Amino acid sequence: MALNSADSAFVERLRAILPDAAFAADPAGFLIEPRGRWTGQGVVVSPSSVEEVSAILAACFEASVPVVPYSGGTGLVGGQVVEDGPVPVVLSLARMNKVRAVYPDENVIEVDAGVILQDVQLAAAQAGRLFPLSLASEGSARIGGLLATNAGGLNVIRYGNARAQCLGVEAVLADGAIWNGMSRLRKDNTGYDLRDLLIGSEGSLGVITGASLRLMPHPAEEATAMFVVPSPAAAVWLLGLAGERLGETISAFELIHRQGLDFLEEVEIDHKRPFKDTPEWSVLMKVGLPAGQSPQEALEALFEATDGLVTDGVIAQSGQQADALWDIRESIPEANKQVGSISSHDISVPISCVPAFIEQAPAILAEIGNFRINCFGHLGDGNLHYNVFPPMGRDRAEFTDQRDAIKTAVHDLAHSFGGSVSAEHGIGRLKVKDLETYGDPAKLAMMRAIKDALDPRGIMNPGAVLRAK
Ligand SMILES: Cc1cc2nc3c(=O)[nH]c(=O)nc-3n(C[C@H](O)[C@H](O)[C@H](O)COP(=O)(O)OP(=O)(O)OC[C@H]3O[C@@H](n4cnc5c(N)ncnc54)[C@H](O)[C@@H]3O)c2cc1C
Repeated sequence: MALNSADSAFVERLRAILPDAAFAADPAGFLIEPRGRWTGQGVVVSPSSVEEVSAILAACFEASVPVVPYSGGTGLVGGQVVEDGPVPVVLSLARMNKVRAVYPDENVIEVDAGVILQDVQLAAAQAGRLFPLSLASEGSARIGGLLATNAGGLNVIRYGNARAQCLGVEAVLADGAIWNGMSRLRKDNTGYDLRDLLIGSEGSLGVITGASLRLMPHPAEEATAMFVVPSPAAAVWLLGLAGERLGETISAFELIHRQGLDFLEEVEIDHKRPFKDTPEWSVLMKVGLPAGQSPQEALEALFEATDGLVTDGVIAQSGQQADALWDIRESIPEANKQVGSISSHDISVPISCVPAFIEQAPAILAEIGNFRINCFGHLGDGNLHYNVFPPMGRDRAEFTDQRDAIKTAVHDLAHSFGGSVSAEHGIGRLKVKDLETYGDPAKLAMMRAIKDALDPRGIMNPGAVLRAK
C-alpha cells in the first residue's frame, strides 16, 4: 500500500490532538545515527503517555503515514533512521521516562519505555536489586529500544539478553490499539506469546510503551580478572574450565584482541594498561559469588588450574581496579568509531567454532585487500564484533567499493559455521538483504505473514527488518 509523507497538513492534524510540548524536541539530534553513517528525515513528536502514542498511531494509520519508533538512537543497523521515501513521523519515547513501580519482593520493576537503561539499573540498586542488562550504550539507550532490538551486552552469559529479562510489555499497535501486557507473572501459558513477538521486532510491529522487567539479587561479592591467553582456542578452553569450576557465577567473559588495545593508544583514549607488553589475545571475565566466598580467590585458583596455559593475568583487588579493566573493554567501541571501520560485523557462531572462524576469516579477507581487523566480543555467547579497518594512515572512504565484498566474506563464513549475521544488533535497514540471503525461507514467510496481519498498511518502520512492499 502506498504511504504518504507527514506533510504540513498532517502535522497540523497532529497539533490538533497533541499538546505543544510533544513538538518541542530539536529534530536534528534524532536524525543522525551514532556513527554518523546515515542522516535521516522525519517529523519528531514526543508523546508523554500511552494515550498520546495511541492517538498518533491512529492518525498515522488513517493517513497511511509511516512511523519510526525512536528510543535512545544508539541502534547500529539504521532501524531508527529513514534516509528517503515518504517522510515519517519519528516517535520519540524520551518524555515517557518514569519508573512506574518497583516490587522488590517479586524482583520486578515496571517502567515506561523511555527510561534510560542506567536509570533502571539505578532504581533497581536503590531497591537493593540488580537489573543486569549492561552495555556500552547504557547511558543513552532506552528500555523500548533495548527490547525492540533484544539487546545483549556484557552479562548475557549469566542473565540472558533483554528478552530473558522482560516479563511483560505494554504496546500500541499500528491502528492505535493499546495492548496492556504489563504482566508480573512468571508463568502464563494463555495463548501466543505476543511479548516475545514484539521483543526484537525493531519497531516493525508496534511501539513498546512500557515494560515490566525481571530484577535479580545483587551478587554479594564480585571480582574481575584479565587473563592473557595464547590463542582464541585457549580462550574457549578457559571458558570451559571456568564453567566447570565457577558454574553460573560467571557474569561476563569477553575476548579482546590486541588491535582493540592498539586503537585505544592510536586515538589516545586514556586508560590504564594492565600489562607491560600488549597481549595478542586476552580475556576479561567477571564472577559474582554469594556472601562469604571470595571471588578473588576463585579467580586465583582458576588461574593456577590452567597449568600455564594462561600466561599472565591481573585480578582486580578493588572496585576501582575492576572499573579500570572494564573501562578498557567499554572504550573499544569508541576507539573503533574514531578510527573508522570500513565494515563492522556482529556475528555469532557456535562457541566451539569461534577459533576456526577467527583463524579462517583473515585469510579470506586478505584476498580482498590489506586491512586491520579488530575482533572482540562476548566469547561466552559465541558473539564476535568482527570489524574491518583500513591500514594505518589510510581513510575508510578509500575502501568504499570493497565494503560489500568484505561484508559478504565475513557473513558467508559465519553462515557456513551455522552462525548468525546479527547476534545482537538486529536487522534494521542495514541487514535486510542479509536476512533475505541467509534467513530460512519458512521463517521469512512467517515473518511477512505476521507483519501483514499486525500492520496491514505497512506504516510501522517501513523498510526495517523486512523490505517495504
Ligand atoms: C557504543 C555502543 C555500544 C553498544 N553495545 C551493544 C551491545 O553490547 N549489545 C547490544 O545488543 N547492542 C549494543 N549497541 C547497540 C544499541 O545500543 C542497542 O541496540 C540498543 O538496544 C538500542 O537502544 P536505543 O534505545 O538506542 O534504540 P534506538 O536506536 O532508538 O532504536 C533501535 C531500534 O528499535 C526501534 N525502537 C526504538 N524504540 C522502540 C519502541 N519503544 N518500540 C518499538 N520499537 C522501538 C527503532 O525503531 C529501531 O529500529 C551498542 C551501541 C552503541 C552506540
